[in-house]
Amino acid sequence: MATRTAATRTQKGATFDSVSPATGEVLGSYPLQGEPEARAAVVAAREAALWWSSLGFAGRRTRLKAWAAHLARHLDELVEVVHRENGKPRSDAALEASLAIDHVAWAAKNAGKVLREKRVPSGLVALNQTATLAYPPLGVIGVIGPWNYPVFTPMGSIAYALAAGNAVVFKPSEHTPGVGEWLVRSFEQAVPGPPVLQLLTGDGGAGAALCRAGVDKLAFTGSAATGRKVMAACAEGLVPVLMELGGKDAMVVAEDADLEAAVDAALWGGMSNAGQTCAGIERVYVVDPLYDPFVRRLVERAGELRAGEHYGPITMPGQVDVIRRHLADAVARGGRVLVGGSIEGNLVEPTVLVDVPEDSAAVQEETFGPTLTVARVADLDEAVRLTNGTAYGLSASVFSRRRGREVARRLRTGMASVNDVIAFASVPSLPFGGVGASGFGRIHGADGLREFARPQAVTSQRFALPRPVASFRRDARTDKLLATMVTLLHGRG
Ligand code: NAD
Repeated sequence: MATRTAATRTQKGATFDSVSPATGEVLGSYPLQGEPEARAAVVAAREAALWWSSLGFAGRRTRLKAWAAHLARHLDELVEVVHRENGKPRSDAALEASLAIDHVAWAAKNAGKVLREKRVPSGLVALNQTATLAYPPLGVIGVIGPWNYPVFTPMGSIAYALAAGNAVVFKPSEHTPGVGEWLVRSFEQAVPGPPVLQLLTGDGGAGAALCRAGVDKLAFTGSAATGRKVMAACAEGLVPVLMELGGKDAMVVAEDADLEAAVDAALWGGMSNAGQTCAGIERVYVVDPLYDPFVRRLVERAGELRAGEHYGPITMPGQVDVIRRHLADAVARGGRVLVGGSIEGNLVEPTVLVDVPEDSAAVQEETFGPTLTVARVADLDEAVRLTNGTAYGLSASVFSRRRGREVARRLRTGMASVNDVIAFASVPSLPFGGVGASGFGRIHGADGLREFARPQAVTSQRFALPRPVASFRRDARTDKLLATMVTLLHGRG
């Protein structure tokens, strides 16, 4: 099979190929862009941002809704592009694209409500002031995306940044440039006008160039290792960053869980998209009395799934080596493969492992394959401790009839689903993001809109105080008055 990015960084005019992970067919050739293209795009975006922000919330809402409608009407086309380039089944591509469209619509509808200028209380000391808080756009946002959810994931930044009034330069993954190009063209068709959303194609070099091209914020989604490089590049220009990184998400199964539902969710969370989901399940902690029946049923159900049929191939060839290394290390350290474990080319059969030491790679590092480690725990306290025991903290799932929410609150994660898996991603009003090695900042929801705006605090004096406070005319009586007011306000605790 051809390498996924058959290109060398040479002179002007170099290109790279996008290759189908399922067939090895070359699907398209794209310019390997870098610094000059990134800088030119940002200059054009800055100009376009003036027009876009001048439209106001209502003007942008109309246009973004038109884009959402266009995406919905051309869903089949988009699904085909994702299926061909990423390799996932069409139904999974349709689910991903539908969720993304819902986010565009939500951001369009709610940007005004969340970001519009509001009056806030001015307090007793500043009672002569009117205080207002507004969220103007930042200007130009650079978005660097991954390949695993090439529509849903970057859209979490693109749609929210646009709705907040910014222009966007989007660098899709070098493994899914065709999806990125399709999205940008669809925007151009639905929203004619200045280049509010532009495409930059290429590999990490293009991404690094975007970090240094003068953007006002860089929204990155990808691995923690690349995230560090992006932060370092952005630090040179004090460019703020949003980091959506990897995960090692766990599922906790309590004694009072619905066993069948938990098994079903573990399978979907672990194996769908061939396990290449940032918020997918990679570890399961089952409380003792339910452990044996849970493992028995999980193995039974996993045995019914087929790589290449229920989910697609591993998109990035290098990832197969990571999966192989994690499995080999787990087995060498006493782990047992109860089902799966075989890898043919880039197809990995659904794999369930038990007795894997907690400090092994398969439990601590992101595997990003259709594998689950299952461990027996004495109680929910131990499940919480082990769930919180990796550097990552993206999301988790808890199955319990009575204690689900209580357990979820104790997890060091940005998100959790109780009696379900990854459900939070389909709720547009909920923020999406993690802690620790999973990153920081949020896409989606009101927090996701504010991520692409700058809070601007403005006071306006309504009347002059007889005794000015911020003035060299302040005298001892004013100081006394202030002290009295503070004592009255806060002195009693
Ligand atoms: P990756 O880190 O290899 O690449 C991500 C993007 O960064 C690509 O567009 C790549 O070209 C670019 N890039 C590479 N080197 C760069 C550099 N030096 N400077 C700037 N940009 C550079 O990640 P991937 O393999 O595409 O995606 C998989 C990873 O993404 C997994 O770790 C997954 O968990 C994570 N992910 C996270 C989320 C989330 O929302 N938290 C969502 C999807 C995927």
